[in-house]
Amino acid sequence: MFENALDGKIVLVTGASRGIGAAIAVACARAGADVAVGYVQNREGAERTVASILGLGRQAAAFEADVSDPDQVARMVRAVVEHFGRIDALVNNAGIMPESPLLEMSVEEWKRVIDVDLTGAFLCTREVVPAMVERGEGAIINIASRLGQIGFPGVAHYSAAKAGVIGLTKALAKELGPKGVRVNAVAPGVTVTDMAAEVMQGEVGRRRLAELPAGRFAVPEDVAASVVFLLSEAASMYYGQTLAPNGGGYMA
Ligand code: NAP
Repeated sequence: MFENALDGKIVLVTGASRGIGAAIAVACARAGADVAVGYVQNREGAERTVASILGLGRQAAAFEADVSDPDQVARMVRAVVEHFGRIDALVNNAGIMPESPLLEMSVEEWKRVIDVDLTGAFLCTREVVPAMVERGEGAIINIASRLGQIGFPGVAHYSAAKAGVIGLTKALAKELGPKGVRVNAVAPGVTVTDMAAEVMQGEVGRRRLAELPAGRFAVPEDVAASVVFLLSEAASMYYGQTLAPNGGGYMA
């Protein structure tokens, strides 16, 4: 669908060792990009994504960093630039969603989710943006969540972080847009990955499914298609928007 849309682009995707990030990395490669594959622990998964991309005839390599750690993020971005020469686009996809009712939520749990899911996007963006601004072009996609739009019990930290990601996206779209860097977000609904495995099971899963006009949960490729579109020239009038491939689970 997006053949050649990202020809010659270098895209860094965080959390690309599995799930939605892996699908985004492969979809970017199908659209013509070379891809830096971010991961934190799962080197094997990252290498699988790299192998898929090499199989498509594009370049790829894996880069380790905990996105919540400023030094590790700086090191990762330096390594990607050394390897590929530059970064044209960044997809802030890495994320975690541990469940914890408010009254059982420790300050550490709260901080960890905010650090990875919100501060991680800030840190990676801050690191890649100076070179983009110097070149006068670049694109950033932040992966938010439907839960950041509707709020959800048991994941107050995650809902707050993802709502924050949408706010970050709008602020940076205004701040960086005039300098040539487009910033947008994608807010998936329940998507078939490790993260959503529990949510999709049993009675809860059946109830969720029954509420979806699409009649199915999203697969990572559904989310990846929104990302590739937002990175492409076809989306050149999109600034600070949140696309929602959620099967109708929330209509803004
Ligand atoms: P997933 O299958 O659990 O994969 C998470 C990815 O993030 C992995 O690649 C993991 O790396 C990486 N990661 C986790 N913590 C990290 C850290 N501190 N630093 C760097 N990387 C880290 O999750 P997913 O479902 O694909 O979710 C991807 C994104 O979509 C997340 O932002 C999530 O919030 C969002 N989302 C998901 C859904 C859904 O239903 N699945 C819905 C809405 C939004 P390792 O493999 O190395 O651990």
